[in-house]
Amino acid sequence: ATLSPVELLTLPDWEDTGLAVGLLLWIVAMGGSWATFLLYKGSSSFAWSQWASWLALMVFLLVVDHRDASTWSSVAAVIGLLLALADQMLKLAYIDELTGLPQRRALVSQLQHLRRRSAVCMLDVDYFKKFNDRYGHEVGDQVLRLLGSILREHRGFKAYRYGGEEFTLVFSHSDPDKLKSTLESVRSKVANYPLKLREPSRPDSKRKGKDARGKKDAAKTVKITISLGATLKEPGDTPDSILKRADENLYSAKKSGRNRVVLK
Ligand code: GH3
Ligand code: MG
Ligand code: MG
Repeated sequence: ATLSPVELLTLPDWEDTGLAVGLLLWIVAMGGSWATFLLYKGSSSFAWSQWASWLALMVFLLVVDHRDASTWSSVAAVIGLLLALADQMLKLAYIDELTGLPQRRALVSQLQHLRRRSAVCMLDVDYFKKFNDRYGHEVGDQVLRLLGSILREHRGFKAYRYGGEEFTLVFSHSDPDKLKSTLESVRSKVANYPLKLREPSRPDSKRKGKDARGKKDAAKTVKITISLGATLKEPGDTPDSILKRADENLYSAKKSGRNRVVLK
């Protein structure tokens, strides 16, 4: 005889297996909706690990009478939680929240394992203090976020947020011509990128109100520039010595007018 869903849910055990049918259905429903939500949001591995741990825990409850199965599912739950924790801790320690780029701590450990043929570049936004003063810190943050995504998507190097408005690029070759052309490409890409600032159109007089009519989102475009100082790895270089040389070249780029690349 077929069972109605209500009868199925209230059945304590599946006849031969001893599995709680109601619990199983509940797990499938909960786990399914949670997974759909995670998929829809494009969630992080941390959120997925939490989900996996929960699932393993539920399976443990389901098969608690089956010794082997319950042991394995509880081991899986613990591993899932540990992985989730480790993932979150690594992110906290190594990823910069604003730009999503790895931060200085990650850079230092990368610099300790530099290949013989490598290069490093320090990059700094020009007159960023003035920019913040003029457009506000929040707009400044947007600029850093955008710069972070330009650097992440550009090919040929790995980018780090060194701190503040300074970034570091690490190259796994030491070909000066190739290096110069990549850095020039980054510099011009940033300099020519139109940053759209959405300004609230709040005209302060009737005349301005007339002028602004029809322009709902008065979007103003501004630009920023960056200066870059790069250097090739030399025998005996330490993370500090190579960064110091790149920083000196950055200083030269600033002194000679900004919005330029210095490679020495
Ligand atoms: P220079 O061309 O010589 O580099 O001039 P500068 O104004 O960029 O350099 P300075 O070192 O005088 O100022 C850096 C500014 O960067 C000051 C600070 O307000 C800003 N800044 C640093 N970190 C952040 C941040 O996370 N968000 C925002 N919005 N601003 C930041
Ligand atoms: Mg600076
Ligand atoms: Mg600066």
